[in-house]
Amino acid sequence: MNIQDNRVVTIHYKLTDDEGTLLDSSEGQEPLTYLHGSQAIISGLEKALTGREEGDSFEVTVQPEEGYGEVNPEMIQTVPRAAFGGIENLVPGMPLQADDGNGNVYHVIVREVKDEEVTIDVNHPLAGKVLHFDVTVQSVREATPEELAHGHAH
Ligand code: ZN
Repeated sequence: MNIQDNRVVTIHYKLTDDEGTLLDSSEGQEPLTYLHGSQAIISGLEKALTGREEGDSFEVTVQPEEGYGEVNPEMIQTVPRAAFGGIENLVPGMPLQADDGNGNVYHVIVREVKDEEVTIDVNHPLAGKVLHFDVTVQSVREATPEELAHGHAH
């Protein structure tokens, strides 16, 4: 069975950046299972998987526009140090979760820490990166009616 919309696909993958640094991998973990066509994975990877069969292994390079987008400079902001009152030892590179007060949680990376100000980056950590995926298709099956109704794999 090949990969088409409304089929549930299980893959093992390895993700590296342009420098060959390993960013993510399913090796030694559960493989990734998703509903094809539901935009559960980035579009460049979904496109490359379309039509593949169980057992296929391939490599694909995904540009930022089909990955996690370009870095948006407006999403790098300076906020008063007091906003992080409860957090000791803020350091550049530190990941945080921020709450906008409306129930939305953002993943934030601390970029710069000064006495009075902290620069935070709300861009996705993989924004602006060219992504190299090494993928093996483990299985492909039809989605159940329940999975289609929910819009995700079970
Ligand atoms: Zn569900």
